[in-house]
Amino acid sequence: MSEKIRVRFAPSPTGEPHVGNIRTAIFDWLLARQTGGEFVVRIEDTDRARAVEGTVELIIEALKWLGIDWDEGPDIGGKYAPYMQSERLPLYHDAADRLVAAGRAYKCYCSTERLAAVRETRAKQNATGYDRHCRNISDDERRRMEANGETPVVRFKMPLEGATTVNDLIRGEVTFDNRLVDDFVMLKSDGFPTYHLAHLVDDHEMGITHVLRGEEWLPSVPRHLQLYRALDWQPPLFAHLPIILAPDRSKLSKRHGATSLLDYRQMGYLPHTMVNFLTLLGWSLDDKTELFTQEALVEHFSIERVSKSGAIFNNDKLDWMNGYYIREMGAEELADTLREFWQTCPPPEIPALPSRELALQIAPLVQERLKTLRDAAPLVAFLFKSDIEYDSSELIQRRMDADSTRRCLEAAYDGLAALDSFDAEPIEALLRGMVKELDVKAGQLFGSLRVATTGQRIAPPLFQSLEALGRERTLDLVRAAVERL
Ligand code: GLU
Repeated sequence: MSEKIRVRFAPSPTGEPHVGNIRTAIFDWLLARQTGGEFVVRIEDTDRARAVEGTVELIIEALKWLGIDWDEGPDIGGKYAPYMQSERLPLYHDAADRLVAAGRAYKCYCSTERLAAVRETRAKQNATGYDRHCRNISDDERRRMEANGETPVVRFKMPLEGATTVNDLIRGEVTFDNRLVDDFVMLKSDGFPTYHLAHLVDDHEMGITHVLRGEEWLPSVPRHLQLYRALDWQPPLFAHLPIILAPDRSKLSKRHGATSLLDYRQMGYLPHTMVNFLTLLGWSLDDKTELFTQEALVEHFSIERVSKSGAIFNNDKLDWMNGYYIREMGAEELADTLREFWQTCPPPEIPALPSRELALQIAPLVQERLKTLRDAAPLVAFLFKSDIEYDSSELIQRRMDADSTRRCLEAAYDGLAALDSFDAEPIEALLRGMVKELDVKAGQLFGSLRVATTGQRIAPPLFQSLEALGRERTLDLVRAAVERL
């Protein structure tokens, strides 16, 4: 038996959790759960300028909402704690010191002004990166700089020739020319490591076996592999996941709509929809299966079937999938889900959280019509209004006039008042019978009643709506409509 798979999700707390990062977390988690491995959450907070307060909590909240669990992390600890990089600084300093002592890294004293000038000159020569000035300074010069009190950064000495090859689990062999990679900074002058050093030290220290991350990191791989070599550490396996694209094939960004996972919660998508949908951004089982239970995803997921090319985020497909999962729910499950949703994101149409009993009445009314949970409240807004607003002319259906409409509504009033039980079925039987008696079209009678009782053109099925309103309220509304005619 080979060693246990250990994967990590390593977000930087620089904003709300992006769907692309969350997809990485889902892939990590699927791989760990499928293989009986371990899933680690590690917070990469060494870029202090970009850190945004409160976002660690949002990232954790997003994962929990999706039903993703982890075996080690900042909130639960674990055998490699701490899991916040800002609390692990000595480890990065040790690695940097070791490399400097071994002549594989060096302190660089160049000022920001000098670096800016270098950048400008090199840009004219079509070159990028640092010019390695401090790699070659004499010991005397170095001592002088140090005496000046300049705080150096530590740079890695990239090999000046040769090539570095990675065998990526998704992309196969990719080779980089070392001459095109500059002597990157590992340790900044504020004493914090860069991503290149920090993630690598931690992946090694934490026994990570597989690194799954976005393809934007692929160009950095030669740096990392050379760093592993210099430290004499075995690198993990790498899988660089395809970028997520908007339908116009540009990189998915805010201008295409929401990019924060928590925004999708706000918009009324179910957590399982998001897990299923995001897993299909890059991975597929075959060319047709789209709907997967969580168990099926855990069973079938494989890195080998992750594609190299960008994955398109298709909102129509997301809506379709969410509608499907909503329709799959039992009434109780939907009622509870709606209440939970309304509690987290109170809709303007509903003044207070409906009781479970009322939610149980609402669920079947709206279930067939929802793409998102957010669609529910406007459909049932009439249940919560003391004043139904509509224009009286809306009561009058096609080929009807005020008199014939009044006659219909009066008959409906009497019939509904006399019904034994005010349930949808007898209401339906009564009103359908009445259509014949009054010699009108079903659409005419039902249309007037819908406007009279809901004030909405688009509302749930009429009979169930009346049942939910209750007899007293229904009769009040019908009487008010008759008076308006
Ligand atoms: N902190 C990095 C990011 O958020 C992690 C990349 C990685 O998974 O190594 O992009």
